Amino acid sequence: MKLHINDTFNKELPADKNKNNYPRQVMDACFSYVTPTVPAQPKLLHVSTEMAALLGLSETDIASQTFLDVFTGAKTMEGTQAYAMCYGGHQFGNWAGQLGDGRAINLAEVLHNKQRWALQLKGAGHTPYSRSADGLAVLRSSIREHLCSEAMFHLGVPTTRSLALSLSGNDVLRDVMYNGNAAYEKGAIVCRVAPSFIRFGNFQIFASRNDSSNLKKLSDYTIKHFFPSIKSTGKESYIAFFNAVVNQTLAMIIHWQRVGFVHGVMNTDNMSILGLTIDYGPYGWLENYDKDWTPNTTDGQQRRYRFGNQPMVGLWNLYQLANALYLLVGEAAPFEAALERYKQEYETAKTTMMRAKLGLALEEEKDVDLIIALEKTLALIETDMTLFFRLLANTHKTDEAQAVLSKLKAAFYEPTTLTGDVLAQWTTWLQTYLSRLQKEILVAEERKNQMNQVNPKYVLRNYMAQLAIDAADKGDYSLIENLYQLLKQPYAEQVDQEKWFAKRPEWARHKVGCSMLSCSS
Ligand code: AMP
Ligand code: MG
Repeated sequence: MKLHINDTFNKELPADKNKNNYPRQVMDACFSYVTPTVPAQPKLLHVSTEMAALLGLSETDIASQTFLDVFTGAKTMEGTQAYAMCYGGHQFGNWAGQLGDGRAINLAEVLHNKQRWALQLKGAGHTPYSRSADGLAVLRSSIREHLCSEAMFHLGVPTTRSLALSLSGNDVLRDVMYNGNAAYEKGAIVCRVAPSFIRFGNFQIFASRNDSSNLKKLSDYTIKHFFPSIKSTGKESYIAFFNAVVNQTLAMIIHWQRVGFVHGVMNTDNMSILGLTIDYGPYGWLENYDKDWTPNTTDGQQRRYRFGNQPMVGLWNLYQLANALYLLVGEAAPFEAALERYKQEYETAKTTMMRAKLGLALEEEKDVDLIIALEKTLALIETDMTLFFRLLANTHKTDEAQAVLSKLKAAFYEPTTLTGDVLAQWTTWLQTYLSRLQKEILVAEERKNQMNQVNPKYVLRNYMAQLAIDAADKGDYSLIENLYQLLKQPYAEQVDQEKWFAKRPEWARHKVGCSMLSCSS
């Protein structure tokens, strides 16, 4: 196995001088050197061969002992120095101080085909940032992270990737629902990959300590490597940088809203500076369209991170990043302007995204009302978001509302409740949609093709991941591979996989892991 190692983060930025691995506050440094814990009995469970290819790794490399050793932390690669990053963050709206890579260890950066990739193990043991926790991860959450990272990539959503999923052979104690029922679970390690794992929180920690010198070093480093189109220097470059982060964050969140992804823990330490979806924890997929839904039971009361609130939380998080970068600029106006722009561009981007989902190629001002009315209509009775949009593509201009409704029938969780006032409101919306379609020039088949490129047929429904987890707990890993293959082509018909093009089964409605998730992972 030969990787083109090209480290920059741990070469160009200040390191923690203390090389001992015990929990502490780390000052004046971007990271601490740390060696992964050697796993008891590592076993490779699944590899993303696409991701491996992007790193220049072949099937033979994947099958090698070195691959297993390196991507489970058993051995370190020659010439590399693994490290954990120092960052802080706002958790659920409150400043939490230093957090850092408590159970993530960066192995190295690879440069392949001019693309930079940082390799990071999640669950490979404690670091100076582990606080009182163990630095480990369990199989269930690792399966969820591995499958969802790759599924999101194939959906076209900016995301960190996952190269490999392995068992560590160690047992890990977890209290899944935080109710005093702790139990041992199988430990696992995921090797995540991204151009960089820098988060909003990496900048915030320095600002919170009034450490403008390190804040500047980190900002200059980030601009140099990841925002090369910024040619300005000094204050101007930080403002340009912030504007770029605003754009990338907004683009990512619009994609989430398009596919029905709910992150679940949008704390600022879980916000990638590159606008990548990062830290797959208690995330979930919207099934019945409910803007107030959150998969995260820890957030069940406040619902801060509910589906419909994600765009505004993105803005709130950017506000915190602005507060940090302000230290380098000393002027609020340019940041305020960028945040104001987010609000406006969000409205436009959302309308554009929803038009595409509805198959509307022309832009009519009144589309905004049609979209607002749709969101209300979808919530009248339980309507499956993924099925609805996919089935809506079968609409013909010449259809009556009634005919479209029967085409949509499979999307309703309880079709028998589609009566009376609910039926009347659905009929009204469909009539408006049908009359709007009359203005479109595309023939039905072309419109359908276009809609099917933005409305996925297959997403990693919460119960699907749980089925893979339940089987894996019994030693059967085949469903992980099946789902991985299915989700590589989320927009394709895949007629032999229709069983996954279905509503959430009733048994999954209130099951832990399907509709109820916690941060325990
Ligand atoms: P998360 O909610 O997963 O984004 O984690 C928030 C913070 O807690 C981060 O600093 C993590 O590194 C840390 N953390 C979460 N789980 C563990 C664990 N099992 N061991 C050590 N640190 C952890
Ligand atoms: Mg995190």
